[in-house]
Amino acid sequence: MNNLNASPPDSQLLSALQCHGVRWQGADGLTRKGGAGPSDHKALTLGEHTAMVPMLNQASQSSPYSAVPDASGAQALIFREGLQVGQVQLPGIPNFYALNTEDGTPYWKIATLHSKDVLATTVLQHCIRMNEAATACQFCAIGHSLAAGKTIARKRPAQLAQVAKAAVELDGVKHMVMTTGTPLTSDRGAAILCESAAAVTAAVDLPIQAQCEPPDDDAWFMRLKDSGVVSLGMHLESVTDAVRQRIMPGKAQVPLERYFSAFEAAVNVFGRGQVSTYILAGLGDSEEAIVQMSERLARAGVYPFVVPFVPIDGTPLAHHPKPDSAFMQRLYPRIGASLRKHGLHSDNINAGCAKCGACSALKHHE
Ligand code: SF4
Repeated sequence: MNNLNASPPDSQLLSALQCHGVRWQGADGLTRKGGAGPSDHKALTLGEHTAMVPMLNQASQSSPYSAVPDASGAQALIFREGLQVGQVQLPGIPNFYALNTEDGTPYWKIATLHSKDVLATTVLQHCIRMNEAATACQFCAIGHSLAAGKTIARKRPAQLAQVAKAAVELDGVKHMVMTTGTPLTSDRGAAILCESAAAVTAAVDLPIQAQCEPPDDDAWFMRLKDSGVVSLGMHLESVTDAVRQRIMPGKAQVPLERYFSAFEAAVNVFGRGQVSTYILAGLGDSEEAIVQMSERLARAGVYPFVVPFVPIDGTPLAHHPKPDSAFMQRLYPRIGASLRKHGLHSDNINAGCAKCGACSALKHHE
């Protein structure tokens, strides 16, 4: 192995924590429970690296790792089977969380801090696929945080602009992720992302990544760009047809080839490396299948953001086995090789999950 591929010990520990989860031995504090995509996390910083680590789900309760916070709540010691293996920093509660809109909605119900400098929101906390077992993505908890009163169903453009401005001014947030549940419209959510991005861009200088399914018409990519979106995520989640059908039967109706035609059109608008896709490893796709798909994506200028799957409480996959950390450690350097070969790097991404990188250890293998 050459030095380019060598993984520093901090990132190895964070990667293991991400796969196994951690038993948290303190008060809840700043967490991400429920919501769209990977969830039930807390942000931990070790050295220069910040990672979102699953802690709030049942699956993490069988982890060999535990975290014991100190009295200040700013640091925690990490133990593996009783032996201390690390010490991590915990981000404080952001200042903008203390604010409310004029109608009394707390800012933290409109957008939340992810990792240490990303503002994230789910513009529409509802999805056409979420209520039917025949269509729902089995890993997703988009309805849970709404049911728990931790968010609001629809974030209005003016609310997003207000919160984004405060998050930049009070907490130094550097970029923003705007995702959405898929509405029953052929644009697949692109229209509400456009109006939301336009409002934020008019209020504050903050690079925005939008995330949606491929819309019916590729003209939406230019509309998103014109609204201030600088990076786009369209998420495959799984890469083989059998796993797509089993894990996300509704979304699997959108053929992989439609994703690739949308990727091509989006790369033409946003540029190589500014389009990305989430791939959840550990749901049944083989190492080879993920590596081959990542190579195909990277060749097309799409950043394959491969993350370990997190079994989220209350979802059909709550008891699905966690990904094996050895599996992830084999995957990361192979995907890193594709990224280098095709000149993609998270530092060059304007905004979004792959730039943040906290849900994966891929960043350390670029
Ligand atoms: S990678 Fe995306 S989902 Fe994960 S913490 Fe960063 S912004 Fe949030």
